[in-house]
Amino acid sequence: MQEKPYFCPNCRSNRVKFSMISSFSQPFLKDALSGTVQEVAEPQRIEETEPTIQCMVCSFTGNEMRFVKQAEREPRAATPTNSTY
Ligand SMILES: [Zn+2]
Repeated sequence: MQEKPYFCPNCRSNRVKFSMISSFSQPFLKDALSGTVQEVAEPQRIEETEPTIQCMVCSFTGNEMRFVKQAEREPRAATPTNSTY
């Protein structure tokens, strides 16, 4: 995961609450006749190049880059656009 701000591109109201969706691999042995599970190994996380992030406000799920890009487009410190010059 990148140490960068996130901003949900879907609800555009959440920069704080997220969840990382990851895949696990858990090998097991099955009995060929009865089909019962004989042995279960420890689950191992499958490392992905880009993590999948879920917004905890609207449940939108997408690649981390989508959240990072949205935060870059609309930074937190952005001033209102109706400034008078
Ligand atoms: Zn959202």
